[in-house]
Amino acid sequence: MTRTASLLFMLALAMAPAWAQHSHVHGQARLDVAIDGPLLALAFEAPLDSLVGFEHRPRSPAQRQAAEAAIARLRDTAALWQPDAAAQCSATETTLDIDALQPSATPAAAVAAEHAEASGRYVFHCAAPAQLKAVTQNLFDAFPRLQRLDVQVAGPGGQVKQTLRRPAKAVRLVR
Ligand SMILES: [Zn+2]
Repeated sequence: MTRTASLLFMLALAMAPAWAQHSHVHGQARLDVAIDGPLLALAFEAPLDSLVGFEHRPRSPAQRQAAEAAIARLRDTAALWQPDAAAQCSATETTLDIDALQPSATPAAAVAAEHAEASGRYVFHCAAPAQLKAVTQNLFDAFPRLQRLDVQVAGPGGQVKQTLRRPAKAVRLVR
């Protein structure tokens, strides 16, 4: 896969009208799944409250520690996402938007981060995409405050919505 093709794919994913009514609900998160040939892309977006229990930049040592732990969990692609083993998927790209979890020296930035969110995009390349029936997500283990995940899957079978409530793990990719 060329870099250009990958960028086009990511652009298409970013422009998908999946979450037309963008919701920011504490305890919840959103997951967009896109399947395109051998590519599987997962776009996860959550209120900071769902991840760390506060929605400003970390101030106290305890908040910094919580923020660092959340960032580490978001970075751990292998722990968070397990596509069906038979599909032979390997992670190729991970992109995090975790600015709101970073300490800031400027008070203005702290104010601007109210009701902040963090997001991650994870792309896999699957050698046997026909075998890809589900992805196991471990978000509820990684983030104890998270209670509900609103999922939208866009793939060869069309668009499917599903809601996962703690402790459900399986994101179904086919009807
Ligand atoms: Zn909020």
